[in-house]
Amino acid sequence: MKSVTIEKPNALVLNEIPELSPMDGEVRIKVSKASICGSDVGIWHGKNPFAKYPRVIGHEFYGVIDNVGEGVDPARIGERVVVDPVVACGQCYPCSVGKPNVCESLQVIGVHRDGGFSEHACVPSGNAYQLPESIADEYASMVEPFTIAANICAYLKPTEQDIALVYGAGPMGLTAVQALKHVYKVKEVIVAERLPERLQRALDNGADRVIDNSQASTQSLLGETKPTIIIDGACHPAIFAEAASLASPAARIGLLGFSNSASEITQQALTSKEISVFTSRLNSRRFPTVLDWFDKGLVAPEKIITHHFDLADIEQAMTLFEHDAKACCKVIIDINKNNS
Ligand SMILES: [Zn+2]
Ligand SMILES: [Zn+2]
Repeated sequence: MKSVTIEKPNALVLNEIPELSPMDGEVRIKVSKASICGSDVGIWHGKNPFAKYPRVIGHEFYGVIDNVGEGVDPARIGERVVVDPVVACGQCYPCSVGKPNVCESLQVIGVHRDGGFSEHACVPSGNAYQLPESIADEYASMVEPFTIAANICAYLKPTEQDIALVYGAGPMGLTAVQALKHVYKVKEVIVAERLPERLQRALDNGADRVIDNSQASTQSLLGETKPTIIIDGACHPAIFAEAASLASPAARIGLLGFSNSASEITQQALTSKEISVFTSRLNSRRFPTVLDWFDKGLVAPEKIITHHFDLADIEQAMTLFEHDAKACCKVIIDINKNNS
């Protein structure tokens, strides 16, 4: 079977590897579609501290179960599924408090173990969620990116009273915009972004107002508005302090970035307004929530997809995703074309 393997940093190959058999408790998925994420590019370039090489990448994927291991109901064969990439022990403290996404022995599919940019992928049965009939094959790999938004929103608890500021109109920012506006129905969603093409995409995804902070400060562009929720979907370390200074008293800030550079912020900037700060990594069992959003048509994954490529053109697709932030948002890869 064909798989996209990062053999070592900066060495991406589409190679033929031996067929997989599901182990005990696993299902084997004939992968149909996958989407590219920033972390796939990070593993390619050796920038993900958790990746071990060689690694089959890809954690946003959809397909059909075509084999099951010991202990899994064979009736699952034929199920259309999407995969939660978070594999957790179920025993440790974070697992016991509902945060398997920060399990002490966390394994992320496509990072710590082989992923879905492959004609077949084996995953623990419990990580494969059946897709409702209402969700088209074409959009199924977009469930995982929306779980990132679902996870941070579960902590921020947006209400119809909130004014939200979202930094960045890439995949993280836009899924957050859709969730805030169309699921939680917040009063106003403002997006701050530096690329005009992305500002337009933010409006198309439901933002009420966009501000171009490449020319002027976010503060001056916001004017009198004091956001009550701020999500950093641009993931720059300087944003935390700026967000605290812009925020309304009693606001909540959600951080999604993974930079190891310091963010400089005073205690007073947070305490004087009693700002709550939430961080979010991957997702903690948010697949059922997002499948429900998709099923009810609350979110519009098609507004985030900008490109399609065949598996054979994976390197071209990853290069475009990495270098063309203006034109590119989500890139879908056709893995097995005649799957379903
Ligand atoms: Zn991702
Ligand atoms: Zn655990």
